[in-house]
Amino acid sequence: MEQKIKEILSGINEPFLNKDFVSLGFVYEIAVKGDNVKIRLGITDTEYNAFPELKNKIWGKIVEEIPEIKKVDVDFMLGIVNHDNKQKEHVLPGVKNTIAVASGKGGVGKSTVAVNLAAALTLEGAKVGLIDADIYGPSIPMMLGINERPKVVKSGGVNKMLPIMQYGIKLMSIGFLVEDNSAIVWRGPMASSALKQFMSEVLWEDLDFLLFDMPPGTGDIQLTLSQTIPLTGSVVVTTPQEISLSDARKGHNMFEKVNVPNLGFIENMSYYLQPDGTKEFIFGQGGGKKLADEFNVKLLGEIPIDTEIRITGDSGKPIMFSKPDSESGKIFKAIAKNLILEVNTKNIQPSKAKGIEIIV
Ligand code: ADP
Repeated sequence: MEQKIKEILSGINEPFLNKDFVSLGFVYEIAVKGDNVKIRLGITDTEYNAFPELKNKIWGKIVEEIPEIKKVDVDFMLGIVNHDNKQKEHVLPGVKNTIAVASGKGGVGKSTVAVNLAAALTLEGAKVGLIDADIYGPSIPMMLGINERPKVVKSGGVNKMLPIMQYGIKLMSIGFLVEDNSAIVWRGPMASSALKQFMSEVLWEDLDFLLFDMPPGTGDIQLTLSQTIPLTGSVVVTTPQEISLSDARKGHNMFEKVNVPNLGFIENMSYYLQPDGTKEFIFGQGGGKKLADEFNVKLLGEIPIDTEIRITGDSGKPIMFSKPDSESGKIFKAIAKNLILEVNTKNIQPSKAKGIEIIV
């Protein structure tokens, strides 16, 4: 019976990806009890506006083809497509997607975006890990209000570090490796070996996304790190200012050089929302959009300068956890949804490796 139902589901498309539920790996449960069947399926957006129609379609097909079944319950949960990559399966088994959050220059709010993006993805129902790899200023433990250090446990006979779990996000930080206030000059190979340790010696278990908060810039260290991690893609954070855009351009090009697709730009500090509701475009307007159009990638969202973003970041409970329904919270939510769609879409496309023509 389960097999028959699976066959039926292989003829029905997930609405956002136009590919059937079975090939996407989005059939999570089929439980038959007497003449009842309960099905749990994955979907790219759990706030899909035509659930009743989709449920009816599934229900209709099943009772039509299997007359013994009288009742069909269909449940949906977030579905994330696995990035098919051998190196990733080897170093990070169980992690579906790895994403670098990068910026061409410091101070554009990259860590703030990384932490709130991790939060927004978690709130969408994804299992999320975050590696704070910003060797110049690992600030994420502070932003998440973490004071402890990871514990070591035995797993499969070997010692593994347990990431710190906070608000549902699993975190490792390069800051855990250094004493507070000590100045360390990281060199490329050192940073790269610390990251390797964070991938292979940490018990990440099942994750939909592992985000890396990268050190800002596009120098040797950033390039080495981008090659060290088997990346699904990057997101590049910029402000609308010309100087930041030109650095973001370099960020995009760096990932392109190492064959990592840029999943989109995020424009931070896009405007200041004044108390009367009008927008003041302090750093100029439309820069992120211009950049996205130039490279033909998505602009995943535009985040305002919002005092609450700064206050909540400093207080150890980022805005996505303390005020998810605020204006900025809604924007981070939209960014998470856009990113999920981008990742799922990219993962079902045949590889577009440069110089290789794919004949279908
Ligand atoms: P980066 O990682 O690029 O160096 P951070 O994320 O550490 O930047 O942000 C630098 C400072 O700017 C932090 O104090 C942060 O709270 C603040 N900040 C970042 N984005 C915003 C924003 N959209 N609105 C208000 N403050 C912000």
